[in-house]
Amino acid sequence: MASAIASAEAFGASYDVAPMSEALELGEGLEGDPALAFRRTLGMFATGVTVLTTRVGEQVHGMTANAFMSVSLQPPLVLISIDRRAKMGALLHEGTRFGVSVLEAKQTGLSDRFAGRVADELPEATFEVIHETPLVEGALAHLVARVVRSYWGGDHSLFLGQVEFARYGDGRPLLFHGGRYERLIEDPRVFSQLPRELLEPILALGEERDYDDGEAVMRIGETGCDLMLVVEGSVHVERPGFSSTIGPGELIGEIEVLDPGGGRIADIHAVGPVRAIAVSREALLGALEADPRAAVALIEVLAARFRETT
Ligand code: FAD
Repeated sequence: MASAIASAEAFGASYDVAPMSEALELGEGLEGDPALAFRRTLGMFATGVTVLTTRVGEQVHGMTANAFMSVSLQPPLVLISIDRRAKMGALLHEGTRFGVSVLEAKQTGLSDRFAGRVADELPEATFEVIHETPLVEGALAHLVARVVRSYWGGDHSLFLGQVEFARYGDGRPLLFHGGRYERLIEDPRVFSQLPRELLEPILALGEERDYDDGEAVMRIGETGCDLMLVVEGSVHVERPGFSSTIGPGELIGEIEVLDPGGGRIADIHAVGPVRAIAVSREALLGALEADPRAAVALIEVLAARFRETT
C-alpha cells in the first residue's frame, strides 16, 4: 500500500486513496502473459478514436487516444486517461485546456500520425483554434475542456475536463476494436447494387401491397424478411443515426431478407398513399437458384463491403 501511495504522490495528482495491487486472475483458456491477456480483454471494448491536443506557447502538441469518456451532462464533464510516459501527460494540469477531436472513419492516417506510428505518407494535420485550443480540422466532433481535476490511475493519469465548447458534424466515426481500426457499416443497400437485368427477374416474383398515409411498413425489431420495392409514393425511414424519405424505385428490407432472424433494422412509415412490391425470402431464394449470376453478384457486393472495413 505504502509504495502505491508513494508513486501516486510522486505523480502529484489529486486523489484520495491509491488501491493496493492484487493478482489478476485470468479466465480459462487464457494462459500466457497476464498483462497481454488483460490488454486483449480490454481491447474487446470497441471505442471511437480521438486526437487530444493542447497548446504550450505557440507549440501545438497532439496525441491519439481512445481512453475518452463522457462523465456528466450538468456540469458538462469528460475524462481522458493518459499514459504517464506520454509527453501529453506532462503538459496537462489543473487549469490547462485540451481539445478532443473525434476522428472520422477515413482519418486513420491522422490517428497513426498522432500515435507516433511510422509509415510512408502520413497526412499532415491542420488545426483550427477555438478557445485558444487547437482542434484537428475535418474531425467528426470537437470539444474543448479545461482540466478541473487530475487523478492517479496506475501507469496512467486521469484528467477530468469541464467542457467549454462542443460541436459535431455529419459522418461516420473511426472505430478501434481488438487493436485495429474498424468502421461502421450503415449502408443497408445490397440488392440495389445489383445490375438491373439481375434485379428485375427477382422483383417480378413479388406481390403488390398498398399502405395508407402514416401506416407502418416496417418496425424496428419485428420479424419480417421480405424485400420491398417502392413503386408509388414515398416512405420515411428512421433508424439509429439515420433519417430519410425515399421514393419510387428504391428498395427497403435489403438486409433483413438475407438475415431473417435479425429483425427489422428500421422504422418505415408511408408518407401519403404508397404502393410497393414485396418479394418474400422464399421467392428470392428460388430466383437465386434459377439464376446463380445474381447470387454471385450479391456475394461480390458483400465482399466489397467487407473490404471497406479492413
Ligand atoms: P509524442 O509521441 O511525442 O507525439 C505523438 C505523435 O504526434 C508524434 O509522432 C508527433 O510527431 C505527433 N505530433 C504531435 N504534435 C504534432 C503536431 N502539432 N503536428 C503534427 N504531428 C504532431 N495513449 C494513451 O496514453 N491513452 C490513450 O487513450 C491512448 N489511446 C490510443 C488509441 C489508439 C487507437 C492508438 C493508435 C494509440 C493510443 N495511445 C494512447 C498511444 C499514444 O497515442 C502514443 O503513445 C503517443 O505517441 C503518445 O504521445 P505523446 O504525448 O507521448 O507525444
